[in-house]
Amino acid sequence: MICRVCDSAELELVIDQGQQPWCNNFLTKEQIGTEPFYPLHVVYCHDCCTVQLDYTVKKEIMFGDHTYLSGITQSLQDHFGGVAREVDSRFCSDRPKKSILDIGSNDGTQLKQYEKLGFEIMGVESSKTTAKIAADAGVPTLHAFFNQEAMSGIGKQFDVINASGVFFHLEELHSVCEGIRAGLKDDGVFVVQFLYVKCLMENLAFDQIYHEHLLYYSLKTIEVLLNRHGLSMFDAYLAPIHGGSIIGFITHQGMREPSERLQNMRAEEAASGCNTVESYRKFNNGIKRMKEENLAYLQQAKDDGKRVYGFGAPVKGNTLLNYFGIGPELIEYLVEKNELRRDLYSPGMHIPLLIEKEVSELPDIYYVLAWNFKKEILANNQQLINDGVEFFFPVNPKTDL
Ligand SMILES: [Zn+2]
Repeated sequence: MICRVCDSAELELVIDQGQQPWCNNFLTKEQIGTEPFYPLHVVYCHDCCTVQLDYTVKKEIMFGDHTYLSGITQSLQDHFGGVAREVDSRFCSDRPKKSILDIGSNDGTQLKQYEKLGFEIMGVESSKTTAKIAADAGVPTLHAFFNQEAMSGIGKQFDVINASGVFFHLEELHSVCEGIRAGLKDDGVFVVQFLYVKCLMENLAFDQIYHEHLLYYSLKTIEVLLNRHGLSMFDAYLAPIHGGSIIGFITHQGMREPSERLQNMRAEEAASGCNTVESYRKFNNGIKRMKEENLAYLQQAKDDGKRVYGFGAPVKGNTLLNYFGIGPELIEYLVEKNELRRDLYSPGMHIPLLIEKEVSELPDIYYVLAWNFKKEILANNQQLINDGVEFFFPVNPKTDL
């Protein structure tokens, strides 16, 4: 194994979650017990400081037919709209014709926001089902894995290239970066959104460590990668998505100076020590402590005769359930909005899923796996809370973004 970013062999194991099922692999009743398990180890590169997984589940398995739909939550839609308007007004308002390519365009939610602003839109999406949903909704979508080859097939350059929540997934990291360099106009802007490892550690949000997330970037480490491919970040800010994500603005190296707020964030990051191996050792101890506390809480609820359901069935929820060893004896159902997951079971722990609007008997406690939507969930469920249902958040983002 060499570092995915800089090719160094100086890697140190910092978090060992053993063998884990691929956590987006919800199971039918017949598939229970047949799901494969893969190593889930986080390693730290002593040369470039990038934190990453040392094992890759093949992208065809993970992204060939996933069922995550980004259109489903209002807060994500609002966020996408805000980013699109910002990109348009800051970088494209004086362009008579403007175009955007969205990498990992999902169901087209984000591209529709750009279309409203007059952009010519195009998406690339690797999931067959999701690409079809987008195409049926009138969003031009290429069903493919984005890389250098896909880019030369597209054969044009764009004013804006966007990659939200996919940039840490990339098996073909260097080919994807070359594709972006080739597809971005000289004065174009690449907008990237990724989980910020500094927030991930501060929130103890270890459940975001799973097979699809191959890389966990800081501002320092993503810059190492971008620079290798003639690209550079010139501005960034922190958004509340997934408990703390960076929205970064990137262009060809030498075209724009880094903004003051980016320089301030870089300084803050350096001061936090989040690029040191010691901080990951501390993080690992924090996860172990959290496991003990959560198991004690759920066991107490069970002893008190309380019924507990999981709220949401996000991929990260499965990471948490598997790592903590929480099965149907502690949590009866996972309640979920996405109807594509009807009648399925969670990988590894085999907890049955229930569709939210079809819940007939309420639990005493909702154990909230989709904690990153805390505000939205509390606001939407005020009636249940007044009726005495407790909402317990295993991960509490400390950063009020
Ligand atoms: Zn490295």
